[in-house]
Amino acid sequence: MIDSGTKTAAAVVVGGGVMGASTAFHLAKMGMTDVVLLEKEANLGAMSTGQCAGGIRHQFSSATNIKLSIESIKMLEAFPEETGQDIGLRFTGYLFLMTDPADIPSQRDAVALQHELGVDTEWLAPEDLAGLIPQVNIEGVIAGSFNEHDGICDPNSVVQGYAKGARAAGVTILSDVEVTGFETTGDKVAVVHTSVGDISTEVVVLATGAWTPDLGRMLGVDIPIEPVRRQIVVTTPTPGLQSGFPFVLFLKEALYFHPEGPGVLSGKSNPNERRGYLLDVDPEWEMVHLAEAMERLPLLEEVGVLSHWAGLYEITPDAHPIFGEVPQVKGVHVMAGFSGHGFMHGPICGLLMAEEILKGAPETVDVGEFAYERFLRGDLNPELNVV
Ligand SMILES: Cc1cc2nc3c(=O)[nH]c(=O)nc-3n(C[C@H](O)[C@H](O)[C@H](O)COP(=O)(O)OP(=O)(O)OC[C@H]3O[C@@H](n4cnc5c(N)ncnc54)[C@H](O)[C@@H]3O)c2cc1C
Repeated sequence: MIDSGTKTAAAVVVGGGVMGASTAFHLAKMGMTDVVLLEKEANLGAMSTGQCAGGIRHQFSSATNIKLSIESIKMLEAFPEETGQDIGLRFTGYLFLMTDPADIPSQRDAVALQHELGVDTEWLAPEDLAGLIPQVNIEGVIAGSFNEHDGICDPNSVVQGYAKGARAAGVTILSDVEVTGFETTGDKVAVVHTSVGDISTEVVVLATGAWTPDLGRMLGVDIPIEPVRRQIVVTTPTPGLQSGFPFVLFLKEALYFHPEGPGVLSGKSNPNERRGYLLDVDPEWEMVHLAEAMERLPLLEEVGVLSHWAGLYEITPDAHPIFGEVPQVKGVHVMAGFSGHGFMHGPICGLLMAEEILKGAPETVDVGEFAYERFLRGDLNPELNVV
């Protein structure tokens, strides 16, 4: 049972991935400590956040996403000092490789927009690539873009750092507790039902990733997010991988790899993947994925699979998140639907959510275009750099 001290809360954050943990941390940092964070799994960060590839990049096609990356990456750099937690942040660089002429105009526009916003991404011709990544087979690559201030970072450490900081400030964090329903008074949220009791509150944050449509249904709100399985393979130690090997992404092929400890982590998105809460590895797709990964990085022919898993992308119709209070129920704030690139935006989005709750609106970055209302207006402007 939820003990008597936590039967009411100034805010209830549902979901203990990067979004929920960052929100709880930033609420507490800004002075709101009467906060309860609820996670249905036994461990925080156990779902998409802990299952992700850990890539961080400035290379997006939408100005708001680029601005979120600028702020978030600064926050990740300051993270160890702010929280005392090392997060394995490494600026390995992140290389987009293009093989389809149809992608060139939009990728050139994206790089131009990044420059306008102060992000130094380089546009590369194939002859520039051979020296940068001699171990990668770049046959058919017609251009690339590279940002040396992109890289990788450990998602679990980020969640743990935020959770530790939030707890120390007085936030109650409960795992193995599932939110099962809500009560409203008039048009306002009033009570959160959980598997261990009820909590009265006027502020609820749905940081529930791919499961947010279920929570929306409990409130009578249609949340357009679809769960889509994505798989990862980590190899045994890969001798000979060049030092400073970057995060490499073949854009059209949705194939990526980066160093992971002594081995390599690789993913490839299945364009025909069914929608649904599928968390088992599809062995047929893994064969397709590995064959292509070996073709592009021949060193992988010499190594084995150390581990593999599947996780869920949380896809919206325009691949942008839903951020902000929903118009249907006052006090319910959604931050979900990051469409496969949310880990890197967790730090800034938690801060923005705390600003929304405590100051009335996000201040550090204007995320107005991510409001739920865009679906009511039919005003969608897709992010293109989705893997
Ligand atoms: C294979 C893969 C690779 C990825 N690679 C990258 C990458 O390189 N870079 C990047 O930035 N992003 C990447 N992503 C995307 C990133 O993982 C997500 O966008 C991000 O983690 C979303 O965070 P979240 O907190 O919203 O969701 P989650 O981490 O899924 O957290 C939501 C939490 O809510 C909990 N929950 C749901 N319903 C309830 C309930 N009723 N009661 C209580 N708790 C509930 C869930 O158990 C879950 O822990 C990848 C994702 C996958 C699957």
